[in-house]
Amino acid sequence: MRLTYAQINLGNFKNNIKGIKSLFKPETKICVAVKANGYGNGAVQCAKAAKEAGADFLAIACVSEGIELRQNGIDLPLLMLSLCCPEEIPEVIKYSITPLIFDKEIIALYDEELEKTGASFKFPVHMAVDTGMGRVGIRPDEAGEIASAIVDSKHLLLGGMCTHFAVADSLTDEDIAYTEKQYDAFLTAIKNVEQLGINPGIRHCCNSPAALNHPDWQLDMIRPGIIVYGYYPDQITKDYLLKKGIDIDLKPVMSLVSGVCAIRHFSKGQSVSYGHTWTASEDTDIAIIPCGYGDGFLRRFNEIVKPVINGCAYSIRGRICMDQFMLDIGKSNSSVKRWDKVILFGDKSQGAFVDAQDIADATNTIPYEIMTGITSRVERVYIEQ
Ligand SMILES: *Cc1c(COP(=O)(O)O)cnc(C)c1O
Repeated sequence: MRLTYAQINLGNFKNNIKGIKSLFKPETKICVAVKANGYGNGAVQCAKAAKEAGADFLAIACVSEGIELRQNGIDLPLLMLSLCCPEEIPEVIKYSITPLIFDKEIIALYDEELEKTGASFKFPVHMAVDTGMGRVGIRPDEAGEIASAIVDSKHLLLGGMCTHFAVADSLTDEDIAYTEKQYDAFLTAIKNVEQLGINPGIRHCCNSPAALNHPDWQLDMIRPGIIVYGYYPDQITKDYLLKKGIDIDLKPVMSLVSGVCAIRHFSKGQSVSYGHTWTASEDTDIAIIPCGYGDGFLRRFNEIVKPVINGCAYSIRGRICMDQFMLDIGKSNSSVKRWDKVILFGDKSQGAFVDAQDIADATNTIPYEIMTGITSRVERVYIEQ
């Protein structure tokens, strides 16, 4: 196996899910987001582990993700959060993927396709309500009409209703008020449906930040993503929860690991890597690490990540290349040997100097992007403890 790999700790993953579940009513369902290859952690393995930890649903973004899960024996209900094109609808049906529906054209497309397959059962769909995210969904005042269209169709069943929050991760007064308005609009949409005598099915709205900041909005199901992979949506939420005395002890699931593939002696005045941005001010040893931006270890990480070898953190020198970078291990460093393991980021309690949150904070992004950015040539290696 290559020196560079992503270690995925499924024990941490399952503990995160169990910790999250413990904050909610036992009957509240949990829909674990495994879209984007399980936020980079590996969709199939995470889906299996999620089921073991008590997940009721899995959330995916596109049809191919659903097919991959089905072909690997995953039998949980799959909720597809993004829209697909008409050509993909036969596969949505074939692989029992639950789509989000929010207009009559889509309802008709599904109904026609189900008619062709001669389905004798009703196919569940969830109705998305746009209460202020500005992405997919009907307006709350259309909920009754669209729910009726679903119920009146020949083959569709209203399996659930959902909405998505835009600023649930912010705790400014203005944003809290906005999120509360979204929640109220969702309740109104549900009421409009119920007043027509239609069962709204599973009602769900909480992504990770909403689940943590507004647990009383759990309704029938929550849809956490980032927290099951061990990261808070942001530091604000984490601080807020700690202040309330809630510590679910989330642990990062992914660690990016590499190894020393060569050690080279550099003399004072010698430069390293493209652009010669670093020149040795004294004699030193440089370890060559076979990992770069082609693995998702981006150039802008070079001032932030301090890779750890045998418990010591070292500085990256010069630019990170596509496939390699150089690490200054100091002169005659006998504690670092060729083929030693290097931890680039991950669980700090297991020796990493930084986690994906630290990298995200320093590069003006979110841990989601750091994890999903680890590319497909990086093998995912699964451990359980
Ligand atoms: C991705 C997604 C989630 C999970 O979001 P997190 O912030 O990772 O918890 C929930 N609901 C919808 C609609 C999503 O797109």
